[in-house]
This record gives sequence, structure tokens and C-alpha cells, in this order.
Amino acid sequence: LISSQTSSGLHVVHIAAEMAPVAKVGGLGDVVAGLSKALQKKGHLVEIILPKYDCMDYDRVRDLRALDVAVESYFDGRLFKNKIWVGTVEGLPVYFIEPLHPDKLFWRGQFYGERDDFKRFSFFSRAALELLLQAGKKPDIIHCHDWQTAFVAPLYWDLYAPKGLNSARICFTCHNFEYQGTAPASDLASCGLDVGQLNRPDRMQDNSAHDRINPVKGAVVFSNIVTTVSLTYAQEVRSAEGGRGLHSTLNFHSKKFVGILNGIDADAWNPATDAYLKVQYTANDLGGKAENKEAIRKSLGLSYADVRRPLVGCITRLVPQKGVHLIRHAIYRTLELGGQFVLLGSSPVHHIQKEFEAIANHFQSHDHIRLILKYDETLSHSIYAASDMFIIPSIFEPCGLTQMIAMRYGSIPIARKTGGLNDSVFDVDDDTVPLQFRNGYSFLSPDEQGLNGALERAFNHYLSKPESWRQLVQKDMNIDFSWDTSASQYEELYSKSVARARATIRP
Ligand code: ADP
Repeated sequence: LISSQTSSGLHVVHIAAEMAPVAKVGGLGDVVAGLSKALQKKGHLVEIILPKYDCMDYDRVRDLRALDVAVESYFDGRLFKNKIWVGTVEGLPVYFIEPLHPDKLFWRGQFYGERDDFKRFSFFSRAALELLLQAGKKPDIIHCHDWQTAFVAPLYWDLYAPKGLNSARICFTCHNFEYQGTAPASDLASCGLDVGQLNRPDRMQDNSAHDRINPVKGAVVFSNIVTTVSLTYAQEVRSAEGGRGLHSTLNFHSKKFVGILNGIDADAWNPATDAYLKVQYTANDLGGKAENKEAIRKSLGLSYADVRRPLVGCITRLVPQKGVHLIRHAIYRTLELGGQFVLLGSSPVHHIQKEFEAIANHFQSHDHIRLILKYDETLSHSIYAASDMFIIPSIFEPCGLTQMIAMRYGSIPIARKTGGLNDSVFDVDDDTVPLQFRNGYSFLSPDEQGLNGALERAFNHYLSKPESWRQLVQKDMNIDFSWDTSASQYEELYSKSVARARATIRP
């Protein structure tokens, strides 16, 4: 095993269930990759530990090899061997853990959604810490993400710090408080945690079901730093309506809880160099954007007779959080307003998938509407580049990345004012916002009227003031949504926490 190098920067280890582009379901994957790259650029040693999924994109891992040593980790009363693989993803060193467990924990053809997810990820969290311990690593920060690796926080302080893996501060980022991974309290024992000690109101006990434990609550209680992915969402989750049962816990631990807006990976999402696009383009050369619009209309079988017909894009997981009823409404309203609509999305919720399949079939050879119901990274890039407007009518949205990616590709966001959308989309008609920050259209009430108002104002602007619209497109493409600023905020949190810990150890 490679041991930690000493350097003047910090040694940060992310333990996560996703990392773009090799194992991505949504924003979490983008954040792990984007934040890590930005921290590495700032001179820190950043390593990532992921499960070795069968369904990863192995083409994007360089120099993948198995290490000679296996790491044994405890689960369900016995030790299991884990094969450890190392490779490089986008210039970052990544460890992949392959548990040699008869249940083939990460050999399921999908990342999540298995009935034993709690077991799979509590196993992985423990194996990741075991890897760090046995490799003799001395990280300054162990950064875990979402409920899948929330177990790392209590495991670290209860079991691994006493074993000698005690150099680190624990940072936990919750990317969405909707998903808390609760389970019957007894299930926690499998990974070696003490259920009697932890199933208590001030520790991991779920705030509403007292016979269940809540990994996200555990990570909030046991981490040194707790973050979520935008300032507005950090406020929303501290209220009874927005906290999904955790508002009291977050308020109690408010001193260590902050919101930091995610960035986007400005190299991966760059229309000037994007190899997925038919034509690369910049803010000063929007002809390329028009060519991408024509190309996608042709390839999807949409009418391309009228270059000025606005194309509205939407790329999303189709789950209730994303405002699926408003997305459906936007398709019909766009048609009435004389636009075209392209939706790329897929749903883990059976009835939503079925409903959208019916709409897709209804419009399958329509001139102006196309629904593509799958996950498709390549097509997503083409849609960002081709669309004039981009719709994000979320009911709640911790941060949201699609609005930022859309702006970088010159597609004007039409977004609901919630969470991170509220921190990144500023209405062009909102006089309370300084002119230089106004960049899109937003609406407050999560209903058809709210959406109609914003969509109609966008269409009017596009159709009646093309020159002003072009300037808005150029302005949005030049906004800096890179990780630089946000990574600096994480850097500061990490450094302060490490300094505080050292100050208490040294007399
Ligand atoms: P969430 O994490 O809630 O899914 P975000 O807006 O934070 O939402 O991140 C969504 C990311 O996933 C973006 O990079 C978006 O382009 C991508 N994405 C969502 N759905 C699809 C899809 N069907 N095909 C390709 N990419 C998708």
C-alpha cells in the first residue's frame, strides 16, 4: 500500500459512493470529482475511496491494478477479505474496494436501489477506514458524503481513533436531507457499532421512529465539520418544514454546520473544448451554439425549419423533488408558446417512469417535442449546448448543478426559487438584485401559474429582443461557476478544524 506523503498542504481523503465520471448517479458524483480536483490544484494531497462497482465506467480509470495485499474488515461477527484496487481518475488517485463477500455487494449492475443498501454501504464505510488504518495513512481530513458513507463518522470516533487512526478531523457533507438511510436499530450492529450506545436521542436514534437509527443524524452528531451544498438550503433544513425531521439536530449542532454552494467542473463542462459537441463554441462565437441546435434537432427528428424557434431543455432525475408535474406542464406550455422541448431523464420511481413513457410515446414523431428516458452523458452535453432555455422547476433543490452547467453553455435557466437555485439564478426582472447578477428567470410558487409566468417572460424576451437575449447568453457563459471559490471555503474549514485539534493536543 502507498503510504501518505508529507507535504505542506493537507491530506484529504474522500470516502464516497459516487465519483464522476466513473460512478455517477447525480450531483454527488460531480461534487466529489470537482472538489477533489480543485483541492489538488491548490496543492493538497487528495485521495478518494470508492466501492468497486461492476457497472462503473472502467474506460475512464487509468492504470487500474490490484494491490498484492488484501484488507480484512469486520462485518456480522466475522472478518471478510477485501481486494484493493488503485487507479487514476481525471488525475486523482482512487482506491476501489472489492469486498470478497458472498453477497457480491457491489456486483449488482447498479449503484443503489438494492434492498440491502444499508448493509452494502455500512460494510463499505468500515472497509474504507480499515484500508486507511492498515495502510498507515495519517490523513488530516476524512470527508464523507451522504448517508451511504455517514457511518464513517461514528466508526471513526468509536472504533478507529482508539485503534490509532487518529490524525483526522471528520467532515460530512449532506447533499440531500431527503435521503437519510434509516434502518432498524439492530442493523447497526453488523458493522461493529454499539447499538445500545448509539440508539439514543442525542446520538443516532431517528428523531421520529425511536426503534430506528439514522446514519445522517449520526454523521451530524459525530463529525467535526458538517456542510450542505448551498446557503439557502442550509437555512431551509433548519426549519421544521425543510429539515426532514433533522431540523432540531441541525439547530443543536449549528456551530459546525455551514452551507457552501457547489461549483461545477469547469474543465469537464466547457463548450470551448467539449469533445461531445458537434461544434465547440465560446461566448464570442455563438454561431457554434446555433450549429449544435441544428444538429440535435436533426438527430432527434425535430423540425429545424425555423432557426428562431426557442428550444427548451431539461435534464434531470425524474423524482418528485424535481417538480415532475411542472416538468410535464412545461412540455405542453412550451408547445403552446411556439417552442420546442427536449427532455433527458430517467426515473427510479416506477409510476413516474411509466407516466413519462406514455408522454414520450404520444410525442414520438412530433415535430417539436422529444423525451429521451434514459441516462446518457453524451446526449446531456449536446442538450446543454443546443438549448436556448433550461427548465428546473424543483420543489426543493439542495444545490442543483444543471442550472450552472446550462448557463456555462449559454442556455438561460428558468428555475424555482429554492435552495441552491435561489443562490445561483437571479431573475432578469428582479429590481432588488443588482443588474450585473441577474442571469435568468425564477418563480416562487411551485405551481403552473408560477412556472407559466417565468416561461412566458423568457419567451417574450427571446422573441422580441434578440440582441438583448444574445447579451444575456454571453453574460451567463462568462459567469465563474468553477470550484475555485467553494474549494477555498472548504480549505478554510478544513484548516481551521485541523488547527483547533492541534491546539488542544499541544500544551
Ligand atoms: P441531483 O444530484 O439531484 O440529481 P444535480 O442538479 O445536483 O441533481 O445534478 C444532476 C447531474 O446529473 C448533472 O450533471 C446532470 O447533467 C446529470 N444528469 C441528470 N439526469 C441525467 C440523465 N438522464 N442523463 C445524463 N445526465 C444526467
